[in-house]
Amino acid sequence: MSGPTKPNSRGTHPRKWSLWRQPRALVRFFLTIELAVAALTVFFAFRDDVVTKHWWEFAVLCVLALIQAEASRKIEQVRRLITNAPHVNMTSVWVFAGVLLLPYSLSGLLVIIVYGHLWLRIQRKMGTRPVHRVVFSTSMIMLSAYAAAGVYAAGRMLQQSSNWSGATTTPIIIAVATLVFLVVNNVLVAIAASLHGRPSHVMISWADFGLEIATLCLGALAALALDNVPYLIVLILPPLLVLHRAVLVKQLEELAITDQKTGLLNATAWHEAAKNELSRAARQNSCFGVMMVDLDYFKRVNDTYGHLAGDEVLKAIARMLKDELRDYDSAGRFGGEEFAVLIPDSSPADVVATAERLRRRVTELEVLAPTENGETLITKLSASIGVAIYPTSGTTLEQLMLTADSAVYTAKSNGRNQVVTLST
Ligand code: GH3
Ligand code: MG
Ligand code: MG
Repeated sequence: MSGPTKPNSRGTHPRKWSLWRQPRALVRFFLTIELAVAALTVFFAFRDDVVTKHWWEFAVLCVLALIQAEASRKIEQVRRLITNAPHVNMTSVWVFAGVLLLPYSLSGLLVIIVYGHLWLRIQRKMGTRPVHRVVFSTSMIMLSAYAAAGVYAAGRMLQQSSNWSGATTTPIIIAVATLVFLVVNNVLVAIAASLHGRPSHVMISWADFGLEIATLCLGALAALALDNVPYLIVLILPPLLVLHRAVLVKQLEELAITDQKTGLLNATAWHEAAKNELSRAARQNSCFGVMMVDLDYFKRVNDTYGHLAGDEVLKAIARMLKDELRDYDSAGRFGGEEFAVLIPDSSPADVVATAERLRRRVTELEVLAPTENGETLITKLSASIGVAIYPTSGTTLEQLMLTADSAVYTAKSNGRNQVVTLST
């Protein structure tokens, strides 16, 4: 008889991650990609014409990939500990160099070695990634590598048969291969995320996109070096290690200002934004609004559907706030089911209209949430919103917050699901 599973370092239970507990369509997708990659790899292994030069280049890329992975193991561990979202893997540098230099089967083997090492040395110990996900990411990268290598080989053949100048067309062919690698990889991630019911994981930020392009450019340079002046390839290592560290620092900066559950600002970061707005408004004699949004009877949601469902509601509220607010408004979570919203540079009427719109949007929310009896649609949510306006409700942040808080209490005692604006 199997007892309860031991929670891993994040407190989640690995059994829930078993492949067979994932949505059917996702399992089918994983298996299709994995079988296709396995079949392609066997086919390439028989067909590829591997010469000694290839084995040398393969060995150099493997050794450098392992040195880089070991040198930045601690950085990678922290990166994986602080975020669960899919993120740019710096080892693409070696994988992409392999794409440009090696026969298909060896570039596939390089991916297996790089990802196998990553799993053995980092993911297995942290227990934050189930094996089937590692197998899928490896297959996905192998497929992206095969597609990019195919496009690169086709480009080179076209180049030779048309007698095009190498100096102008080689960079174009490499750029197209880079694009194919990026597109195939991101499309596969997007399909897996939507089949998993997590379309928010599909969105890759411009910064991540830039980072992916940077690692692939370094990969192209590594390939050029290895092909022409092999020992120069070691020059790729220092910028790569520094880049990796810089990425971690940026992730830590983001972590320091973000509420982990909802992705909104945390209380400290929200206060900072509000303080800045206060000094700007004081200088320019303008108005701004502060809102406290408190969900009504949220405890009942937890009691009825469970804490996980409650969390889904909080995330849905956060998404709604991000959708409804302007880019320069700031929404933060003040812990529990309380949110704070800053509406800079707006008239009192506009702030109240915005609060009213947010209140209505909460009542319209339909949240698909996991419960013990499967997924349930949670509706009929509502929130009480307290509004304070600078300068009529207060001239310091403390006064404004206290006023907005009293306004929430008034809204609650008047029957909830309403907006109340108070002046001092
Ligand atoms: P009211 O209308 O008076 O605001 O009632 P309420 O139930 O919303 O307020 P109360 O303060 O009594 O309860 C807040 C609940 O929020 C209690 C707590 O379990 C729940 N809660 C706080 N933080 C979280 C969280 O991160 N996730 C979940 N799911 N629930 C949370
Ligand atoms: Mg509350
Ligand atoms: Mg509440």
